[in-house]
Amino acid sequence: MHFFLHFERTLERKSELWHDFFPMNVLPSLFGWTLSQLEQLCRDLNAPRYTARQLAEWMYHKDCRSFAAMSNLPRVLRSRLEASFTLDRPDPHLGAASADGTKKYLFPVPSGTVEAAYIPEDERATLCLSTQAGCKMGCKFCMTGRLGFQGNLESGQILGQYAQLPERSRITNLVFMGMGEPLDNMAAVLQALEVLISDWGYGLSHQRICVSTVGVLPHLEEFLRKTPVRLALSVHSPFDEERARLMPCQKVWPIGRVIDLLRRHEDGKRRIYVEYIVFDGLNDSPRHARELVRLLHGLEVRVNLIKFHNVPGTEFQAASRKRMEEFQRVLLDKGIRTTIRKSRGEDIEAACGLLGSRGTYAGY
Ligand code: SF4
Repeated sequence: MHFFLHFERTLERKSELWHDFFPMNVLPSLFGWTLSQLEQLCRDLNAPRYTARQLAEWMYHKDCRSFAAMSNLPRVLRSRLEASFTLDRPDPHLGAASADGTKKYLFPVPSGTVEAAYIPEDERATLCLSTQAGCKMGCKFCMTGRLGFQGNLESGQILGQYAQLPERSRITNLVFMGMGEPLDNMAAVLQALEVLISDWGYGLSHQRICVSTVGVLPHLEEFLRKTPVRLALSVHSPFDEERARLMPCQKVWPIGRVIDLLRRHEDGKRRIYVEYIVFDGLNDSPRHARELVRLLHGLEVRVNLIKFHNVPGTEFQAASRKRMEEFQRVLLDKGIRTTIRKSRGEDIEAACGLLGSRGTYAGY
């Protein structure tokens, strides 16, 4: 008897706790679903197939936040959707604004808070998005890497950083270079990309979108097959042991194998960038530049040399401008288009390694 009384009380308490953390009104959000997912939903609800496109248009063309307002859908269907889903997306809070116009926004998600950076520059404005809360990759020069991993973002939480941005109408380019490794959250990233570039979605040009990766070999081929967007590969050293010290992922996905895979699969239609943060006395020698040329042989790429922004508590220092220019000269002499990237948002910690990434986001 005593045991059962105790058991019932435990159940009661458990149910209270459950409601504390998961209130009854927590429903999945439809925002971020692709057309084929919406078509499947319509089949399940016995609704005509064209309803899926109507739903997509309400969400992505008309920015509709309520099922009740979807006036061309039958009332019964709207009620059923309302009972099972929301149209929620994360809302931004302005984190900081830089003297150079860069703004850092914070987006609360269930697994933590993620950051996005808005970077205006002459005729273009770039948005740098996060794909995970934290990151598993542990790159030694990156602040996010030190935070560890809190969770993957869903497609709608990635897209919400674009859809909800106050400056959205001015955005010309999107880069997936914020917190997290995009290819470590492949399904959600591919889903978000599909919504961004499809006519039933946001209809952006795939040439205006760039996804950055450390080279997650198990997912890279699928990525190349399934999306035409641009790719930025973080290299940072052409020497295996040295790269492994900077980027632990090198031990499982060696850069030589990543480049080989790109060589085999690329047909010259997709622009590929190589990201190279230049550290003083570590990877900035002519020997490194020559080895980088050798590593990239036969692959059409553009190299971005990136100024390192000092991350508190790391032993790394930024290479001088002169050193970066000497490095650039070696690559240019071998016919590799190489740019020294401008720093943006350094004063608000929205720059490379501070937001948690590998590039100075503008210019892709
Ligand atoms: S640089 Fe990118 S992949 Fe590496 S730890 Fe930071 S967020 Fe992760």
